Amino acid sequence: MLISLVIPAHNEALQIPTTIESLQSVLPAEYSYEFIFIDDGSEDQTWAVLKAAQKEEPRLKLLRLSRNFGKESALLAGLDAVHPKSSALIVLDCDLQFPPQYIAKMLELWQSGYEIVAGRKITRQKESFFSRLKAKGFYRFFRRLSGYDLNNATDFQLWDRKVLEAWYGLSERISFFRGLSLWLGFKRCSFDFEVAEREHGESSWNFFSLLRLSLDAITGFSAKILLIIPILAGVFWLFFLILGIQTLYHFFNGQAATGFTTVILLQLLIGGAILFSISLIAIYIARLFIEVKGRPRYLLSELSFDQDRFSLHNRSLAEQEKELQNGSKKIF
Ligand code: UDP
Ligand code: MG
Repeated sequence: MLISLVIPAHNEALQIPTTIESLQSVLPAEYSYEFIFIDDGSEDQTWAVLKAAQKEEPRLKLLRLSRNFGKESALLAGLDAVHPKSSALIVLDCDLQFPPQYIAKMLELWQSGYEIVAGRKITRQKESFFSRLKAKGFYRFFRRLSGYDLNNATDFQLWDRKVLEAWYGLSERISFFRGLSLWLGFKRCSFDFEVAEREHGESSWNFFSLLRLSLDAITGFSAKILLIIPILAGVFWLFFLILGIQTLYHFFNGQAATGFTTVILLQLLIGGAILFSISLIAIYIARLFIEVKGRPRYLLSELSFDQDRFSLHNRSLAEQEKELQNGSKKIF
């Protein structure tokens, strides 16, 4: 049985040899494997290191994206590249923060009938109290809006072939792997693991990329947040009604309301509420814009794999492969 390992890599040149070695040493021998590495537009020697490693390890299937598309897109490219005969796939981080020793256990759980085996992290090492608090707040908010509990969920997951086929049926441009994995359903179990520390380099997430991922996650799973606008409108309407009646009452009694303070406060309140509502709508329009444009989720610049051993079945990947072969860049 063939198992696909999907490993996105961005600026991981120093890490890759160790990653390959540790995978080789822990993978259960009763299965065969393909190692799908996706070089997500790295600026360092990641691609060269991967190509060199491929000479020693022919099970490597290498994809290079035309620029840095972000982990989610790199992951999608990897899923598209999974061999048509592969029975299951496992998503891993290149930095070994998802310890490969758990792969044997994941495969066991899969063999016992689970279709998604998902890793839950039990420690968030080297994270400040503040970022832990942020994560907690986000998960709570996400659960409120979407109904899915993502607390401690990770991308360290095994998917049965069936799940992957269901995934291929989704057409979203902006994806959120962890969330969609829950949405897909199927027979699911989780296991706890301790997140290892990164040996080389540092995490590529910064405040803004995390904010974007959170926004993508929330807007992708729920439009409930837009309901804030009519609720806000209702509250204001009631408030204005009372204030209006009071103002008119004073007017007809010959005592007009005095002072600019009320006017200024009202202006600020109304202006703030309008700007807030427009921003909410803008976030959703931006998402719709990207979805409607329907651009590919990633672009390949190079592909490298043993053609006798592997084939590509996914349409968009196969097309991109053909284009690459026809174009000036011959890569095989
Ligand atoms: N990664 C990627 N593209 C990016 C950022 C990250 O493919 O734009 C890969 C990275 O090489 C690693 C995985 O995604 O294998 C997780 O990234 P990172 O370690 O930076 O995130 P963290 O562990 O902090 O969640
Ligand atoms: Mg990491």
